[in-house]
Amino acid sequence: MKYLSGTLSVLLLLAGPCAAGSESTASEAIAATLRDRATRGDSPAWEFVSEITTRFGPRPAGSAADRAAAEWSAAKLKTLGFQNVQIEEFPLTAWVRGAERVEVLAPSPQPLAAVSLGGAPPTAATGVAGEVAMFGSFAELSAAPAESLAGKIAFVAYDMTRTQDGSGYGAAGPGRRSGPDIAAQRGAVGYLVRSLATGGTRMPHAGATAYVNGRVPLPAFALSEPDADQIERLVKLGEKVRVRLTSGATYVKEARSQNVIGEIPGTDRASDVIVLGAHLDSWDLGTGALDDAAGMAIITAAAKLIGDAPRRPRRTVRVVFYGAEEVSQPSGTTPRGGRTYLANRTAQLSSHVLAGESDFGADRVYAVSLSKGAAESAFGQSLMRVVAPIGVVPSAVPPGEGGSDVEPLVQAGVPAFVLRQDGSKYFDYHHTADDTLDKIDPAALSQNVAAWVSLVWLAADSDVDFRTL
Ligand code: ZN
Ligand code: ZN
Repeated sequence: MKYLSGTLSVLLLLAGPCAAGSESTASEAIAATLRDRATRGDSPAWEFVSEITTRFGPRPAGSAADRAAAEWSAAKLKTLGFQNVQIEEFPLTAWVRGAERVEVLAPSPQPLAAVSLGGAPPTAATGVAGEVAMFGSFAELSAAPAESLAGKIAFVAYDMTRTQDGSGYGAAGPGRRSGPDIAAQRGAVGYLVRSLATGGTRMPHAGATAYVNGRVPLPAFALSEPDADQIERLVKLGEKVRVRLTSGATYVKEARSQNVIGEIPGTDRASDVIVLGAHLDSWDLGTGALDDAAGMAIITAAAKLIGDAPRRPRRTVRVVFYGAEEVSQPSGTTPRGGRTYLANRTAQLSSHVLAGESDFGADRVYAVSLSKGAAESAFGQSLMRVVAPIGVVPSAVPPGEGGSDVEPLVQAGVPAFVLRQDGSKYFDYHHTADDTLDKIDPAALSQNVAAWVSLVWLAADSDVDFRTL
């Protein structure tokens, strides 16, 4: 009730389905039917996420597996009855992990569990070595004086906080993205960051780091949490800790990736498009089941259920499997697929009535974020009636930019929604070798699809102008 003044909320609640009219009531009944089908697992979600992760394994942007998975996805959409299926290509610089090693040289040699950050340059074959300069946070690193890190390996030890909404990841983000740049400006020769993680295992968590003037400034690695603890304890013992970083990473400057797009066409308002996004590319260590094959499966299943509804909705539902979400680029134009989608549709922006993405694993949806006006509208009221039985509440947090892939659309004026899902365990596996199918709970996945199909059906079957709400 955060969005509603007391009296108004009571009136709206009393008005309920009657005020929405019998047409809306019929539409709400279909939404409830689709919700129940999804909840029973009567959708292609599990089959989709199982098959893409099993057939193709990791799908790094620009790789052969990325391309093969895109072609399979396009064929799958056609099989499921989607129309206007297309693959939209774009160029990118791909980054390829090579042989890599991080080790303590002194006081006593020992290997560390670490992975290079995406985009980070290779070292000489003999590696790069230096004394560790440890910082508690990115802010502390940023406060280090110029030249104070000459010849050193900077290490940001910040320990990410576990949260339901992922805000812990946001707070830790600059340490991975911008740490190498800040360290290089102060003379460092290499960079270490504690994994942006909550699992506590020796699985290091990969992730992109930022290019600056066309290059990532330093060899840069993420340490697993126990290995980060180990370095921290060594430093606190008063030892001079020397480490060596070795990476054989390479770049493919003329790689290609792609978006895959398919539609369930609407009826009398078919030119109105609702975009459901997820990303096809993944990190190279696991099979990208949680990040983000699950998202692809959720949006595909929701759209497929709508395609199979007793009647078609009024508006078109478009799924977009974005390419190259995970990777930073020398040009800075990331996410590449999201920017390409927008660049190719600047003339059709006004037909995009709503956009949302699924890119936070496969756990249960617990809240829905809409603009204040949309939440208060008959559409918003109807939606909450449909999703309340599956445990979804209105979120007090506005939708913001909707997520990284739809962010370019939202910045261009397209209204966003967010179905907030439980991310409490997401960062136990995120970007690790352990992001695999077995981490997905089929019942939670089904609930997630149920929330998606409820919102998308109601939005697609309405003529609500979300831009004016
Ligand atoms: Zn993702
Ligand atoms: Zn990711």
